Order: sequence, then structure tokens, then C-alpha cells
Amino acid sequence: MPADIETSVEKICEVRMKDNIKDYSHSSRKLFSFRRYFVATWVVVLLASLISLAIATPALAHHPFGGQTPQNLFEGFLSGMGHPVVGLDHLAFVVAIGLIAAGIKGGILIPISFAIAAMLGTGIHLASMDLPLPEIAIAFSVLAFGVMVAQGQKLNARTLAVLAAVAGIFHGYAYGETIVGAEMTPLIAYLAGFTAIQMAIALGAMYLAKFATRKFEDRSDESLVQRFGWAIGGIGIAFLTDAILG
Ligand SMILES: [Zn+2]
Repeated sequence: MPADIETSVEKICEVRMKDNIKDYSHSSRKLFSFRRYFVATWVVVLLASLISLAIATPALAHHPFGGQTPQNLFEGFLSGMGHPVVGLDHLAFVVAIGLIAAGIKGGILIPISFAIAAMLGTGIHLASMDLPLPEIAIAFSVLAFGVMVAQGQKLNARTLAVLAAVAGIFHGYAYGETIVGAEMTPLIAYLAGFTAIQMAIALGAMYLAKFATRKFEDRSDESLVQRFGWAIGGIGIAFLTDAILG
């Protein structure tokens, strides 16, 4: 190769490499700051909801206001944020969909369809339509999704989104109990509250599962996320037993 061509080839390579390095550092920096922003948001939302729950009187297990109908926007929003957190069956399910979404391409579809279906479920309750055996259906959804997480299930995102939506209708139906008879403002705030907290928890679990998988992969036969799945399945069995016997 003539010397002048050789040097120009070298120059091109050099420029390309520099570009690559620049691109790489740029995108990793962006990713890093996004991650920090995301974690910070999640922590703030979670802390805010825990503090508000501590302020509200936690008389009944699933209802931050002791089962009283929320009267205004503030109470509606807090009550909505509280229900999926205080109700362990709902919380376990929302964490499960986050964990399962982490391992699947387009997994974000799963919590989104669950959240939308939950609003629909509340609507069904408000329309005074009855769903059969909601307690058992909810407990079963926790068990089923827990086991799917535990077994490292890799159904496609669409199938899981449909299953999550069916579960969401029942969870939302249960949320509806608190808000029956409320005015429009606390009602909308209640919907916004439980939708926001569910998305925050599911996305937080999804992010943490991705992080844990990247960090602790190949350390054992069963991943950390899968073990969490067994714990969720156990919660499902406890609620299922309670729903059938109680
Ligand atoms: Zn509940």
C-alpha cells in the first residue's frame, strides 16, 4: 500500500475510533443520569406515600381512611396511593408484574395494561356490576404471577399483558369498594393515586430486577429475582387460603 494511502486510512480509523469513544461516553453518561433521576423519583414517591400513610389513620387493612369515603381531592389521592401499598396482595402482585416485565422485551406493556385495567375494574364496581369471587381471583393472580416469576417464565409481553389486564380488572374492582358513593373530584384523584403508585412500584421493581440481574448474574442456579417470585407465590397462597376459608 502506498504510504500516502496508508496514512489516510490510519487517519480515517483514528477519527472513527474517536467518534465511537465519544458516542459511548455520551450515551453512558446520559443513561447514568437517567438512572439517578429515576431512582430519586422512585424513592421520593415511595417516601411520600409512606409518610402520608403514617399520617392517615390505618384502621382497616386496605383502607388508609379506615374505610371512610374520601371527601376531597387530597383524601382521594392519598387513599388511592395507599390501597395498593397497604393491601399486601395488591402490592405483591404489582411487584410481580414489575419483576416479570424486567426479563421480557417490551415488558413495560405489562404494568401499563394492568394499570389501565385496574381503572376499568373500579369503573365496573362503581357501575354496580358484580364480579364473581374477586378475593379468590386476586389471591390466585398473586400466586400465578409469583410462580411465573419464580420459574423465570418467558411468555411474550402481549400474552402477559392480557393476563395482567384480567388480574387488573379484579384488583381495580377491589379498589372500587373504597370510593363507592364519592364525589367526582375525590373519585378522579383516587384513580390517579392508585395508578401513579402502581406504575411507580412496578417500574421500580422492574428497574431493580434489571439491575440485580446485571449485577448478580451467574452467581447461583436460581436468580435473586426468581427467589422473590417464590416469596410472592407464598403471599398468594396465604391470601388464597384466607379467601377460601374466610
Ligand atoms: Zn384491597
